[in-house]
Order: sequence, then C-alpha cells, then structure tokens
Amino acid sequence: MLRLTDIKLPLDHDEQALELAILTKLNIDKSQLISFDLFKRGYDARNNKNIQLIYTLDVEVKDQTALLQQFERDPRVRVTPDMRYKFVAQAPTELKHRPVVVGLGPCGLFAALILAQMGFKPIVLERGKAVRERTKDTFGFWRKQPLNPESNVQFGEGGAGTFSDGKLYSQVKDRKHYGRKVLHEFVAAGAPEEIMYVSKPHIGTFKLVNMVEKMREQIIALGGEIRFSTRVEKLDLEGDQSNYKIKGLHLSGDEYLSCKQVILAVGHSARDTFASLYQQGVYIEAKPFSVGFRIEHEQSMIDQCRFGDNAGNPILGAADYKLVHHCKNGRTVYSFCMCPGGTVVAAASEPGRVVTNGMSQYSRHERNANSAIVVGITPEQDYPDHPLAGIELQRQLEELAFSAGGENYHAPAQLIGDFLVGKPSAQLGDVSPSYTPGVTLTDLSKVVPDYVTQAIREAIPAFDRQINGFAKADGLLTGVETRTSSPICIKRDENYQSINVQGLYPAGEGAGYAGGIWSAGIDGIRVAEAVALASQSQINET
Ligand code: FAD
Repeated sequence: MLRLTDIKLPLDHDEQALELAILTKLNIDKSQLISFDLFKRGYDARNNKNIQLIYTLDVEVKDQTALLQQFERDPRVRVTPDMRYKFVAQAPTELKHRPVVVGLGPCGLFAALILAQMGFKPIVLERGKAVRERTKDTFGFWRKQPLNPESNVQFGEGGAGTFSDGKLYSQVKDRKHYGRKVLHEFVAAGAPEEIMYVSKPHIGTFKLVNMVEKMREQIIALGGEIRFSTRVEKLDLEGDQSNYKIKGLHLSGDEYLSCKQVILAVGHSARDTFASLYQQGVYIEAKPFSVGFRIEHEQSMIDQCRFGDNAGNPILGAADYKLVHHCKNGRTVYSFCMCPGGTVVAAASEPGRVVTNGMSQYSRHERNANSAIVVGITPEQDYPDHPLAGIELQRQLEELAFSAGGENYHAPAQLIGDFLVGKPSAQLGDVSPSYTPGVTLTDLSKVVPDYVTQAIREAIPAFDRQINGFAKADGLLTGVETRTSSPICIKRDENYQSINVQGLYPAGEGAGYAGGIWSAGIDGIRVAEAVALASQSQINET
C-alpha cells in the first residue's frame, strides 16, 4: 500500500473527487488503481471562505515499486507503515505473581487490558465505584446532593476522563503507534468508527460510560479481576530508601495484598496517595502545572468566527479553538481542554473545595462553548518549598473558590467585561452559566494570585483579536481551574520503574507521564509491556 498525505479538496467536494485526486496525484489512470482507504481527514479553516479538507489515504496500486521510484523525492508519497499492534510477551501457563494495577482510569484500563490480552490476569484495585453507580453519585452531586469523596468526577471506574468531552488527541510522540491500539480498542468497545480517521476525534461522555463497561468485561473474561471501592493506602516495602523493593499493598478495610509488580495509575487527584508515597520515601518531584478559570461563550459565536458561512456544516461539527498568549509579566496564558457545545462541570473530589472542568456529549449540541483559560506556573517560581507544595497551592485556591461561591459548592463566576475592569459582577448577561449546582457572581481576582489575574486580563483582549467576540462583556468566567495536570512527577527509570522502588511502575497523568485520555491510554500500554517483559526476564533467570 502507498500512503498519500496532504491531499486537499474543497469542503463541499463530491464522492468521486477523492479517486480523481489520487489519479491526478500519482499521474495514473483508473485501471492502475485497485482500491483506497481513508486513513485521516482533517481540515484547514484558516480562510473560512475557502475551507479545505485534508486527507491522508492508503492506496493499493498495480505497480507500487515503479510509483515509489517515481515519487522518491516526494515525502507525501510513501509506503504505508505497519501500524498494527504486536504483543511483546505472553504470560507463562503457571503464573506465579499476578501484576497489580492501581486505578481504573484510561491508563490503568489500558495497562490492565494489555496485560490481560497477554495472559497476565491482572488484579485491578480502584478506590471508586463501578461506572454506573459512580455516574449516579457524580450527577447527584451536580444536582445538589452531598459530594462523595470516593466517587465523583475524578474517582471511580473510567477515571477522570469518563465525564468529559472525550477528546482523543495529544502531542505525545508515538513512534510505536500505540495510539492506534487505543483507538482500535475504543471502537471495539463501542466508540464511533470515525475516531479512527478524523484528525481531532472525540467520543462524548455517555458513550464513554458504555465503553468502559465493555472493556472491563473483556479484562474479566481474560482472567483479570477488578476490585472496586478498594483504595491503596500504603506500600509494603523492603530494603532501604535508595533501593526499595515492593512486597505488597496495604488496602482500605485493613486488607493486605502481596505482590511484586504494581502499576500505579492513580491520576492527578490522588492527593492522599501522593502524601502516603512521599512519607514512605518514594522519590517524588514537584512539576509545573497551570491555574485559571473556565471561560464560556455562545458556541454559535465561535462557529461563526471560525467557519463563517460554513458554520453548521456536519463535517466540521462545532468549532474549537486553541489560543496562546505570552504576557508582559513573563507568564504564558493558554486555552486548554476546549469543549465545543458542552458544559462546565463541578470537578471537586475533596469536601470544602470547588474546582471546574468541562465536558460534552458526542453531539456537542449544547448552547455554550467552554475552555480553561489558564496560566502556567512552576515549582521554581511559585511553590518552591516542597515536592508536594503544588498540591497545597491547588487546595488553597479551591478553598478560596468554595468560600467565594458561598460554601455550598456553587462556583464563583464573573462576566468577562467586569473581570477585565476589576468590578464584581452583579447580573448575568446573554451567556447562561452551564455549571451546576450553580454559580455565585463575584470578583474572581479574590480566588487566584494577582499574577494570574493580571496575565488573564492581558490575554483575553489578545485572544479577541483571533476570535472576534472572545472578550465580549457578556461572556462568563467560572473558577477555579486547578486540575490541569499533575503537580508532581514520580520519577521512573528506563524500565518504567520508580527510580528508588523496584517493582513500582508510576504511570499515567498522576505520575506525570500523560496529559489526557489518549496519552494516558498510551502510557498504560507502555507500562504494561514493561511489566510483562520484566516478569518474563525473571522467569528466564530462575
Ligand atoms: P485518572 O483518569 O485520573 O484515573 C485514576 C484512577 O485511579 C481513578 O479512577 C481513581 O479513582 C483511582 N485511584 C486514585 N487513587 C487511588 C488509590 N489510592 N487506590 C485505588 N485507586 C485509586 N482528557 C482528554 O484527553 N480529553 C478530554 O476531553 C478530557 N476532558 C476531561 C474532562 C474532565 C471533567 C476531567 C476531570 C478530565 C478530562 N480530561 C480529558 C483529562 C483526562 O481525563 C485525564 O488526563 C485522564 O483521565 C488521566 O488518566 P489516568 O488513567 O492517568 O488517571
């Protein structure tokens, strides 16, 4: 097969145009073309009066060798790479030690699935509940029921990404094409087929719930075991701090589980777990993350600005954006986790704290667009004193937000116009807040450090120059956005093990190795392979 990249066609092209584009590109006639498949479809909307679809196509032709020679100097004509996933190991029939996966977010889910598919029968420990029960708790909290600290947006089967927009793209380097395996497994579990070929795929929250259940069933069918409402509280270690070895895990309910290999995929909100690991001497460093607010506009305004007269075209869907601004005070402000046609959600996992995030359904049909507008912060500059100081900063801001919201889990909010001039808001404008249980209009500069306020005040007008209406006075800011990525990194070596605990495999977003559903899934695969290869070499040595 040949892979042709960068084939551009107008948005409204007809069905035959693709074949014609292939024949023209390769300068062949129809009799030489056997078949073709769509590998990727993106679009270029920089000129919204002339939006182009951009295709990558896999093409079967009669004389591939001759064509490859002919296009030797053209990087847009190449042999299609083999992107199929190949297992690196197979478990022995007599499995002495079952690997343990802690956390059933995207990272733990893929780690467990790959281990199960290789025959390693993993034991999965998840502090939260199964996804259906968890959905009741999470949606209950949004309808003013009490927060369950073990079952919420962050904790429970499916992890943090379950109630989300389900965006599946990231900038991670993926030379081994693990990302394709993630997409294949998602499709097998019920995701729309199009996630295999659209350039910015998304799944939406309700589909994710069903998919997570199907993937769990597969892990169990392959001999894996999943224990919900089981929290890892402490590691059982032997050796000294420069070279510990894992012996087992202390679990909630005074349980103990003996084990030799543990994949720790606990996500970025497992603050109690990080504290326990740190206390035990597991090597942890503080890492940069970002803080700020959620911004909401009417989706129709974003669509109009990005797509002009083509707004509403089903191929384009609801428009997104990605914005960056470098401020005079040296800070960088950027948009993050943009959710077209979605809602702002209450994402707290600890009582007395308010955190925002965003989600949408597959249709992305809600009235508002939202994204996080956040400022990058670093341990060197902003929380220098302790490896876990970033967590303390997050907590402080979330407490300020709880207090400014009225101490009832309402989120503090402010109209963009008022925020820009430093005036507390008293009345909503055209944009209705989507956050539930509700918002309290206030002055958002009270809940973040001054440098964050200053940077965002400078950035919003700059963003308005890219998206006309972005600084519109009626738009809404809701706070506080603190869980953008993990504030810590649990350092691991080239074998994916903690640098001072043999047998402990820190993985996914919480450990600092992923940022999003897709990259967390990819990291889960990498680490599952490392575990499988390590147990195979142990068998060979004995
Ligand atoms: P997590 O998904 O956080 O999973 C960790 C799991 O470990 C949890 O289930 C938790 O209950 C469990 N756990 C924690 N501590 C323990 C313990 N001690 N013992 C046992 N279990 C434990 N990303 C995207 O790519 N696209 C999006 O559209 C998107 N939208 C989002 C919307 C929301 C509302 C949120 C909150 C996040 C969103 N994200 C999105 C981010 C994405 O969800 C995360 O990057 C991803 O889930 C990280 O995966 P993970 O497996 O590393 O960790």
